[in-house]
Amino acid sequence: MKAVFLKGHGGNEVVQVGERPMPQRKPGEVLVRLRAATLNRVDLYMRDSGAGIRHQLPLIMGVDGAGVIEEVDAQERLLQPGQRVVLYSGITCGRCEFCQHGEPVLCTSMQTLGEHCDGTLAEYISVPTGNVFPIPDGLGFDEAAALGVNYLTAWRMLFTKAQLKPWETVLVFGIGGGVSLAGMQLAKAAGARVIVTSREQHKVDRAMELGADAGICSSSEDVQKRVMELTGGRGVDVVFENVGEAVWSTALKSLVRGGRIVTCGATTGDQPGADLRRLFIRQLQVIGSTLGNPGELQDLLAWCAQGKVRPVIDRVLSMEAIHEGLDLLERNAQFGKLAIAIGD
Ligand SMILES: [Zn+2]
Repeated sequence: MKAVFLKGHGGNEVVQVGERPMPQRKPGEVLVRLRAATLNRVDLYMRDSGAGIRHQLPLIMGVDGAGVIEEVDAQERLLQPGQRVVLYSGITCGRCEFCQHGEPVLCTSMQTLGEHCDGTLAEYISVPTGNVFPIPDGLGFDEAAALGVNYLTAWRMLFTKAQLKPWETVLVFGIGGGVSLAGMQLAKAAGARVIVTSREQHKVDRAMELGADAGICSSSEDVQKRVMELTGGRGVDVVFENVGEAVWSTALKSLVRGGRIVTCGATTGDQPGADLRRLFIRQLQVIGSTLGNPGELQDLLAWCAQGKVRPVIDRVLSMEAIHEGLDLLERNAQFGKLAIAIGD
């Protein structure tokens, strides 16, 4: 089968498009014919180093994906061949204390597709039955694939972790990136007020067209000052963050007393000043999050079925254009998800 795989680490030439063996479905698994995947920042990390993530080369890339069920166990009752499904990207043990307590996303032996094991940039994948979820009617394969990682991550950050309320204001840094855009869309759909930032005015403008309430271009405006103007000197209730060091100090200073900052990434560095005095005097909460639980994906899909959220796809590329896609992602040149079409 055709796949995009890594034959090493470092440089674009380690990313290859070519033939890989078909996965062999085991009992309890579903064989899925993939139709789309989207690119995520971790794909760049796997290409460049993959350090700290136990895996074997060659490794098929791709963390999220959607497709059609090709084969399931004969006795399977909830799924059937021909069904359109989106994948949950974490394969969990089901037995550790976190799995037992309903937080499989914290599983101590979580295997993530495209990181620890073969991923979704391939014509076929075989995953445990619990890792596939039917796609609501009206959503394309590329849109569905986008839900599996970025939108799920944003969902958990906003609703499970930060406990966002409809009357609150959220500040989303770095709009244009997949998770940030998902955060903006989900917060808006929940009825909250959303302020976005970007260093590029055209991305702020696009976000405003998509429903953001206010936008700040951080290359020409003072973000903290603008946030205070926009909130009557109060600050925002929730900061939604994955930029890291470059914006951390501004982020903390933009929060109302008792506010929450929720982070799932550190693109610009992960060692900002902690500003502990501000943290305790103003009783701020710093919350970390990554991915989400299968149950949270189910909730997200239910919302999509109601038409509340539709993922933003920047463009759809072929497998052969993988280098172009990774390059766009690395330069943050995209607005929304970069999707890869798989199969015909
Ligand atoms: Zn576990």
